[in-house]
Amino acid sequence: MANDVKLRTTPSEITNIEDVWVLHFPRFGKEGTHYHTYGMLTPYFKGLTEGRLMATRCVNEACPISNGHGEKWLPPRSDCPDCHQPMQWAQITDPHGYIYSYTFVERGGTGLEVECPYYQIDVKIEGVCTILKGYLLDRKPIKIGDKVKAVFRTESPTNTCLDIAWQLL
Ligand SMILES: [Zn+2]
Repeated sequence: MANDVKLRTTPSEITNIEDVWVLHFPRFGKEGTHYHTYGMLTPYFKGLTEGRLMATRCVNEACPISNGHGEKWLPPRSDCPDCHQPMQWAQITDPHGYIYSYTFVERGGTGLEVECPYYQIDVKIEGVCTILKGYLLDRKPIKIGDKVKAVFRTESPTNTCLDIAWQLL
């Protein structure tokens, strides 16, 4: 990823068990490694490392809200919140959107892995019914409504949600 804002993180290792990722997150050094599984959301995190943004949508015709034609959700849900049936994976091709809201983070708390200062932004993407939180690579002044596109950390991925960032268009 080109640009200003950098990450200060040790990439997490992954154990792959039957296509399900288990993350080894060295939050407090090697002895303090935190293990957790991405479970059914593994395709989302794996997709980020391969430059793909994967959402989910409800295709259950009996769903009282979607009637089988659900909008995309990001971050994805494995089951529909309305009908509790499994959702279907759907790639967002050419992921871009606009800044829905933002915070300029000047000082981060302990363990923050994004180099300050940076903009934490909420991105609205057409066809997605939720707002996706992320960070902006640019540091110049921004405003609500500015257009952004997704950038993926496919080289030396962290294997976390930090593998997607946004860049001003
Ligand atoms: Zn549903």
